[in-house]
Amino acid sequence: MIILKSPEEVALMRRAGRIVADTVERLMGEVRPGISTGDLDAIAERLIRESGALPSFKGYRGFPGTICTSLNEEIVHGIPGGRRLIPGDVLKLDVGCIWEGYHSDSAVSVFVGGPPSDEATKLVRVTEESLEAGIAALRAGQPLSDVGRAVQQVAEGAGFSCVREYAGHGVGRALHEDPSVPNYDDGRRGPVVKPGLVVAIEPMVNVGDWRTRVLADDWTVVTRDRGLSAHFEHTIAVTEDGPEVLTAR
Ligand code: MG
Ligand code: MG
Repeated sequence: MIILKSPEEVALMRRAGRIVADTVERLMGEVRPGISTGDLDAIAERLIRESGALPSFKGYRGFPGTICTSLNEEIVHGIPGGRRLIPGDVLKLDVGCIWEGYHSDSAVSVFVGGPPSDEATKLVRVTEESLEAGIAALRAGQPLSDVGRAVQQVAEGAGFSCVREYAGHGVGRALHEDPSVPNYDDGRRGPVVKPGLVVAIEPMVNVGDWRTRVLADDWTVVTRDRGLSAHFEHTIAVTEDGPEVLTAR
């Protein structure tokens, strides 16, 4: 069941989005060789709590971190810890917070000490462009499946693949609500988009095959072929005037 949000609820979610965006931006400034993913997690938790919000992910189905930190062939849901960043790493930071009972969710991919290859540079650029295309396709009166089709066109048009086993999602009082927002054309038309819909669009794009595996920690999702993956995510509200990116930096 899709829960549309009132303008008052969207206002609360705008605040949640602002806190997430500020946290992501601060974390991007902290990424450097030698810092551990656990250090980044501690910084994020402090920033979120100082803003008067709560981390969305901590304790979610038992997840131990405030943020997800996924490196290189890790796609999403990496657990922060003692691993130290090294030059050439491609780090995915995924941040969520709860403000006044409403969640917001956003992710970026960043290079540690510069891009390791032209292919990595292209992958990260194309993944962000696929998110932008997905956001542009989120229009009231149109089927939600337009989003996945737009994401897929950009990613596959550049020779990459879209992860199919994980998707974007509605966001609200729950971190993950209906509807599911696939990053590819799954053959379904999807519900018609209406004002008040709030969704996280989050393309996960792989250099190689789209198939995934979960590591023995039961969280970390990796590419099955261990090729490089990138991830970008925004939480977006559909308004009468078009999509509003609540987590814009
Ligand atoms: Mg996320
Ligand atoms: Mg999400």
